Amino acid sequence: MQFVNPWFLVISVFMMIAFVGITVWTKRNERTTKILRPVFLISLLVLITGTVTSNSAVRSTVDERLKANLGSARLMASELQNHYQSSTNDGVGQEFTNKASKDIVERWLKANPEVTGVKAIRKTPDGKFQTIVLSGNNESIDSLLSRGPVFGKAWEGTEVTMMPNRSNGEVFSAIPLQNGNGSIHSVLLLTFSDPQWSAVIERAQSLVVMMTAVLVFVALFGGLAVAELIHALAIARVAKAEMLLQGDQIKEQMELIAEKNQTMAANQDLLAQANSRLHALATMDGLTGLMNHRTLMEFLSTSMKRNSVVGSPSSVILLDIDNFKQLNDQYGHLAGDEALRAIGQVLRQSCPPGAAVGRYGGEEFMMVLPGGSESAAVAVAEELRRRIQATPTTSRQVTTSIGVSTVYSMSKSEQTLIGEADSALYYSKRNGKNRVTHYGHGLLDSASA
Ligand code: GH3
Ligand code: MG
Ligand code: MG
Repeated sequence: MQFVNPWFLVISVFMMIAFVGITVWTKRNERTTKILRPVFLISLLVLITGTVTSNSAVRSTVDERLKANLGSARLMASELQNHYQSSTNDGVGQEFTNKASKDIVERWLKANPEVTGVKAIRKTPDGKFQTIVLSGNNESIDSLLSRGPVFGKAWEGTEVTMMPNRSNGEVFSAIPLQNGNGSIHSVLLLTFSDPQWSAVIERAQSLVVMMTAVLVFVALFGGLAVAELIHALAIARVAKAEMLLQGDQIKEQMELIAEKNQTMAANQDLLAQANSRLHALATMDGLTGLMNHRTLMEFLSTSMKRNSVVGSPSSVILLDIDNFKQLNDQYGHLAGDEALRAIGQVLRQSCPPGAAVGRYGGEEFMMVLPGGSESAAVAVAEELRRRIQATPTTSRQVTTSIGVSTVYSMSKSEQTLIGEADSALYYSKRNGKNRVTHYGHGLLDSASA
């Protein structure tokens, strides 16, 4: 007996729809279908197990009910047979029509409301089947015989188990009855009504069906959730890897930029150094490291202008090394150079704050004293002369002749001022060298060696 519950059909249809849905979803999301195979395998197993469990649950329920009905049927048959065998009136056609038999049947019908029909069929001597209607069940003999083997087997003496008929909710059974000498006398047909037959089967199946449905849902949506989770985790892993990669790239770029910045800073340093070297070359005298002629002239011009505005004086000290030609001739040009460097150093060290000193040309030097009065300039000049004379050189003692000039306003140009200092210097040379002369006041000697 097979009782396929319609719910299983519903679940199968649902699974098919779900399968199509999931396939479409998978394709659209380009997700792996790997998860689908185990999910559907599990769902199928659940469904098969559900069907088997449900059928066995139905079968055991049916068996239970049949057993109960069969028990009733046997008891009734045995009571009728006992009555028949003990009856004195055993004429054909009389055995089940007498009152005692009728009473047995009536009692049975009363006590067992599920028995809807009781009928006995026997064979007449001419070989035809004859119905002995006892109660209920007006089914024709042909219809009963059409139930085929059930009746046939009973007539051959085999006890037939009960057959449920789901369409009308009836159970039909045929039991052979024997006469005194043991041969089949007639067949007792019993019909049991069981209006709750379908409900019983469905009740037995419903729990299994429900559980199966729940398990299928869990398998499908659990599988989908797992697929989603795996996908999300994979995306997260990829995103993390990308982030790390980007971080590395950024770090690399930063390092590159830092490296470039360092190179740039180094280049800027080099440029600054080159600029300062260039500036030094442009403004300094190469041999002595003092200001060169052009820079010295610029300084003089600027300071003269500035001082004339505030009405303070400016002085110029012009120095020329005495008998330098002789030194060159006697000790060589290198010794001459060395002497020039030594004098340059003395001049730099003796230069008062705010003043400037430079190489005017050849073996001539000039110091500019912004704000320097005549007496102050003469004092400085005298100190210079003394220090130069005291400076040791590799060759011989070196002396200088010095000319000083002062300007108190814009009354003189730089050229005039220098010209005056030169005249004073010339005066120093002519008057024995190694001395300081200030231009003015009739070119008075200020000091002598
Ligand atoms: P005076 O006392 O009259 O000044 O005599 P002097 O020999 O110094 O005469 P003058 O000033 O005419 O000579 C300058 C000499 O200085 C001429 C030149 O050979 C020398 N001289 C100029 N520049 C340099 C230099 O850079 N190095 C060396 N070694 N000699 C120089
Ligand atoms: Mg000279
Ligand atoms: Mg000279």
